[in-house]
Amino acid sequence: MSEPYDVVIIGAGPGGYNAAIRAGQLGLKVAIIEKRDSKKLGGTCLNVGCIPSKALLHASELYEAAGNNFEGLGIKISGLALDLGQLLKQKDDAVDGLTKGVAYLMKKNKVETFFGAGEIIAPGKVRVSGETSAELDTKNIIIATGSEVTPLPGVEIDEKQIISSTGALSLPSVPKHLVVIGGGVIGLELGSVWRRLGAEVTVVEYLDRILPTMDGEVSKQFQRILKKQGVNFKLSSKVTGAEKLKTKVKLSVEPAAGGDAEQIDADVVLVAIGRRPFTIGLGLENIGVKLDKRGVIITDHFRTNIDGVWAIGDTIDGPMLAHKAEDDGVACVELMAGKAGHVNYETVPSVVYTYPEIASVGKTEEELKAASIKYKVGKFPFAANSRAKTNHETDGFVKVLADAASDRVLGCHIIGREAGELIAEAVSVMEFGGASEDIARTCHAHPTRSEAVRQAAMGVEGWTMQA
Ligand code: FAD
Ligand code: NAD
Repeated sequence: MSEPYDVVIIGAGPGGYNAAIRAGQLGLKVAIIEKRDSKKLGGTCLNVGCIPSKALLHASELYEAAGNNFEGLGIKISGLALDLGQLLKQKDDAVDGLTKGVAYLMKKNKVETFFGAGEIIAPGKVRVSGETSAELDTKNIIIATGSEVTPLPGVEIDEKQIISSTGALSLPSVPKHLVVIGGGVIGLELGSVWRRLGAEVTVVEYLDRILPTMDGEVSKQFQRILKKQGVNFKLSSKVTGAEKLKTKVKLSVEPAAGGDAEQIDADVVLVAIGRRPFTIGLGLENIGVKLDKRGVIITDHFRTNIDGVWAIGDTIDGPMLAHKAEDDGVACVELMAGKAGHVNYETVPSVVYTYPEIASVGKTEEELKAASIKYKVGKFPFAANSRAKTNHETDGFVKVLADAASDRVLGCHIIGREAGELIAEAVSVMEFGGASEDIARTCHAHPTRSEAVRQAAMGVEGWTMQA
């Protein structure tokens, strides 16, 4: 009999494949199992999530800019046209290249890869069912099987007329009217893509605001900007049914609090009301791994209630984000190897890759108020930032929240071009337990948008200089 593995990882998304790399680096004997038919590694993120959506966002943003903004910059274009086939192909090329990159990293770190469905048949025993089957003996198992779309009863997804985010990454033509159910990250990112490509887009959101977990001021201003871009919103509304006709879907929409229903006709409906952990077929019931009411695997520092069985990423509590899954994977393997693995969930940034981008880390004003924490606010608009003004991209602002007594940075919220890059500074400062004054007194290159972060930090003590 061959030596058992030190760790078998089920699921090759950002959680699983980064856990595998770290295990390889630490000299552990490691295998990873992936059930995707395409035999592509990288999970939801690389195949049908972060990467393809960003490829479409990037290309569609340039398309819209070429149509609307280039002339003002002195660049004339004639014959601008959309080649949707090529736009989708470059997205597939990006996915292809990056998934191959993950396969290379598995080899480099001596990770054995199995393609097939993994099932835990006993603690320390994993069955792989695929083209070839195997039973793997292992000291540890990591569940990294990710998440799936939360369904909406009465609005059944067929990936043609009623689609999930996966269908929205490959629509064969631009719909005339796209109705998005859910004004969260997926709805606003993929809604933006198809609006830029020519669709009329209506977002139906249950709550009275979009991006409900973001800072209130940010989501309010963002909704205003999206409205100006042409997105229609129906807030405080719920979809109660969908009737599929040959070329249309008739949606019944009611006020969330109850009232008269109205009909909205859509060519395509995107269901984007959240995601839930995916653990079907894993055999968790065989060994008694505990889940909570939402199907989230209950863990303590990635340990489930069963010895030697660990869980990470979208299957456990916390934000469903690729970089959070990655950090979970690394910390989980380090703990397994007797090291001090740790993830600081207070400093996991969150980015919405629309135009402008939204980026956030730490507490929102609403959360600080609810926790009765006294705080100070520094704010700076991009309209006063020289680089943003020069480039005619002045939408948005930076907001820094700091503890009223200690000045420690408690949160940072940015709406503006490249907000996703700018937030890294606030994340680093927060990770070091830094103060707003640390940002305010740090030299920032001129002319850059990062100066807006500094000016906002100066504002915490009331000495913003450039507005
Ligand atoms: P996953 O990436 O879901 O990987 C799990 C893998 O396990 C899958 O490949 C699945 O096939 C496999 N699997 C499941 N069951 C088994 C089994 N029994 N045996 C073998 N394999 C199995 N996050 C960001 O941070 N930034 C973004 O820009 C972003 N954009 C997104 C856009 C969209 C449209 C979507 C849907 C998600 C996006 N996310 C983004 C979220 C991100 O994709 C997830 O948080 C992340 O992929 C979670 O990683 P994971 O490793 O936990 O799981
Ligand atoms: P979400 O949680 O971001 O947003 C769902 C929205 O739908 C919320 O605003 C919610 O109030 C609303 N909603 C819920 N039920 C509803 C109903 N019945 N009718 C109308 N509205 C309803 O979820 P998502 O947009 O589906 O994204 C899923 C996850 O994927 C997110 O949690 C996010 O972590 C991840 N993701 C991240 C990124 C990124 O990091 N840029 C991009 C895409 C997805």
